[in-house]
Amino acid sequence: MAYQRVEIPREQIEEQEAVCARLAARFSAEGRRPVAMVDTYGCQQNESDSERIRGYLAEMGCDFTDDAFAADIIVINTCAVREHAEQRVLGNVGALNHSKKARPGQIICLCGCMVQQPHIAEKVKYSYPIVNLTFGPHQLWRFPALLEQVLTKKKRVFAVEPSDGTVTEGEPRRRDGGIKAWLSIMYGCNNFCTYCVVPYVRGRERSRRPEEIIAEAEALVKAGYQDITLLGQNVNSYGKDLDCGTDFAELLRRVNDIPGKFVLRFMTSHPKDATEKLFQTMAACEKCAHHIHLPVQAGNNRVLAAMNRGYTAEQYLEKVAMARALMPDLVLTTDIIVGFPGETNAEFEDTLRLVETVRYDSMFTFIYSPRVGTRAAALPDPMTRAEKQVNFDRLLELSNRISGEKHAAYLGKTVEVLVDGENRDERYPLTSRTHSGRLVHLQGDRSQIGHFVRAQITESATWALFGKIVP
Ligand code: SAH
Ligand code: SF4
Repeated sequence: MAYQRVEIPREQIEEQEAVCARLAARFSAEGRRPVAMVDTYGCQQNESDSERIRGYLAEMGCDFTDDAFAADIIVINTCAVREHAEQRVLGNVGALNHSKKARPGQIICLCGCMVQQPHIAEKVKYSYPIVNLTFGPHQLWRFPALLEQVLTKKKRVFAVEPSDGTVTEGEPRRRDGGIKAWLSIMYGCNNFCTYCVVPYVRGRERSRRPEEIIAEAEALVKAGYQDITLLGQNVNSYGKDLDCGTDFAELLRRVNDIPGKFVLRFMTSHPKDATEKLFQTMAACEKCAHHIHLPVQAGNNRVLAAMNRGYTAEQYLEKVAMARALMPDLVLTTDIIVGFPGETNAEFEDTLRLVETVRYDSMFTFIYSPRVGTRAAALPDPMTRAEKQVNFDRLLELSNRISGEKHAAYLGKTVEVLVDGENRDERYPLTSRTHSGRLVHLQGDRSQIGHFVRAQITESATWALFGKIVP
């Protein structure tokens, strides 16, 4: 099937806003202000999608809650990357039987990547009758119209048709807090790593037009956001589908050039598209965090080829060396999968060796989870779960040791941080991040939130640093 980028015309988004106004009028005629709950699983892209859902719900006049028993409308935005996340969603949907009984008329909506898979959509249809509305990521832009159908026709609605993917502009969006903002620059993925479901559920790569992204970034800076993260499954593939001459490095520079004080981050980068130009741009852009999340997935070349990653361990290490030469203070993080089908213990040792060589600041490690319809799911997978767990535990121990050592090296140093929130720890009531994204728990009071301050590091642990504000 040829790739089809579907741009939703602005008028159609305006129609959705008109539906929101109709629903708001309908709720107020019923003499109530509806309460909504939005529960998000998975990656930052999903967090960003949930902001679009909340934007629409706010236009319908909804207040928000975290309590399912207080909600008239519940939206669960799901993740399909691993089985564990899917099981949690299904368990939580099952538990909503109680809130629905206690609150007749409660509307339950399931959306996101998980329900874009036909076998899950079927399961929801036949085994979870309490779900009123099911829609995939490509249909999110018309959530108000779908909800209106549920309310007026009083029947269940399913909108999970396969699609290469939609691009929308101008939807209302409700962001949490006023300091950190996600900014989606592209959607979908073309890479088809053999273990991964994302290209099947999120469609092909679609980049937003640079002028739309710049306008949104300018509005964010104007609204006072100080920490902006450009989001995409592979941000550094940005622009390949547009023919407008703007690649990711140029986009980064253009956002960096917006006047104002803010930190600029991006997630996630694919090693095959991480170029010297990108590292040079990161090094040259004063607002750009010297942090790159560069998922390696495995350290063995046979496994990397079987995963269809498009690079060897040696090529990956060369890129890391190039990035570090340009940014000696670079914070490097990664994702690793343990127990890919057919990975032997000897091949896993190569992953440990690569981790010892690179010394990541932190790592996200996962045990391979077979995904329906992916190529890896059809491969023989002789290693037992218990054996995979042994390897996983070894990797985690190594990762913790290295993170702990890297954190300890900050002791006594003074770093600039942006104070971004509160912490439950009484001794360190504030949370903050260094420019390169390290978490620092801070002494201080609420009045510091939203400010850049200098912090002296007084304690370190595996996952975080601790410090006090100094002049
Ligand atoms: N686009 C990003 C990551 C998307 S998914 C990238 O390519 O880096 C986030 C992480 O989940 C992946 O990096 C991978 O480590 C993990 N993951 C994806 N599919 C998985 C699977 N089937 N089993 C276990 N982990 C998986
Ligand atoms: Fe999945 Fe690979 Fe695409 Fe990342 S690059 S989303 S791991 S297919």
